[in-house]
Amino acid sequence: MATDISSIKITKTANSRLNEVDFENIPFGKVFSDHMFTMDYVNGEWSNFEIKPFQDLHFSPAMSSLHYGQSIFEGMKAYRKGENIYTFRAKDNFDRLNKSANRMCMPNIPNELVMDALEQLLKIDEKWIPDNDSNSLYIRPFMFATDEYVGIRPSETYKFIIFGCPVGSYYTEPLKVKIESHFTRAANGGVGEAKAAGNYAASLYPAKLAKEEGYHQLLWTDSKEHKYIEESGTMNVMFVIDGKLITPDLSGTILPGITRKSVLEIVKSWGIEVEERKIEVTEILEAMENGKLEEAFGAGTAATIAQIHTIGHEGKNYVLPEIADRKISNKVLNFLNRIKRGQEEDKWGWIKSF
Ligand SMILES: *Cc1c(COP(=O)(O)O)cnc(C)c1O
Repeated sequence: MATDISSIKITKTANSRLNEVDFENIPFGKVFSDHMFTMDYVNGEWSNFEIKPFQDLHFSPAMSSLHYGQSIFEGMKAYRKGENIYTFRAKDNFDRLNKSANRMCMPNIPNELVMDALEQLLKIDEKWIPDNDSNSLYIRPFMFATDEYVGIRPSETYKFIIFGCPVGSYYTEPLKVKIESHFTRAANGGVGEAKAAGNYAASLYPAKLAKEEGYHQLLWTDSKEHKYIEESGTMNVMFVIDGKLITPDLSGTILPGITRKSVLEIVKSWGIEVEERKIEVTEILEAMENGKLEEAFGAGTAATIAQIHTIGHEGKNYVLPEIADRKISNKVLNFLNRIKRGQEEDKWGWIKSF
């Protein structure tokens, strides 16, 4: 698509909210930067490219995405060191959004234009990107159906938006997770590998029940037998057993995480053995009983690496080794934090700085 980047209309806010924000205490996902990027899909093409003040939207009560859930999203982060802004594998996020779009019968976005729009947005909201080692600007690109029509068919019109939230840590403590053996997140042939809004709505109730039992998150298992580990919340899950990093393979029911694939590549480059395969719940239970489970953690953009401290299964809790003793995940977390801020050699070409 040959859309000229100069066609983005830019309107800057006259009332920056920047000085209202306490950057030392930012609640996750509740503070929004001054500007957003929006575009509309109408008559078979994207148009109305705009960067403008973050503001409310006005829609018909009949807007189809509200009723039937044609809505997808992405999550990535921008980092800053002094004058330099960094994004990490942002193109992969937009590619994944297009894969989600295909599954949900939604139009693809023009990736190059959107990458440029993102960079312009980040430059305009540069001061909203925290300049320290634990904070960043969480970026939320998303698309939803906007037809005013109460009938089930793919919408003919869509809106795409990118906005940002300055954020600190997603989890403040190591996680207690429960292996779910009744509810499911995704089934074969379903939409588990798409970042589709409805997946998250469907997971709220089982997650709520687990919270009432004292867990932070669920460890999802396969829908057929609840025999194999899948993923956790909005993170892929990884284990270290006998010095080997193991993680469930991408079977179609698991979200193909960018943190996941980055961790696998980093760890392989260090000569650590990696296995992507089916992982039986019993394999993890046995490894915990025999003291062979050295590490367990979630991998995702929001939390980067979230250490798992306790795993519960059918009423029994297993406490895992001390976080400080976890060599691989601690080293990966440190490496990721540094490469994302231009402090490690980027031999993979993951970082864009501008
Ligand atoms: C977004 C997400 C992940 C992690 O993907 P990243 O690209 O690493 O952020 C994992 N699982 C689910 C269900 C997700 O929505």
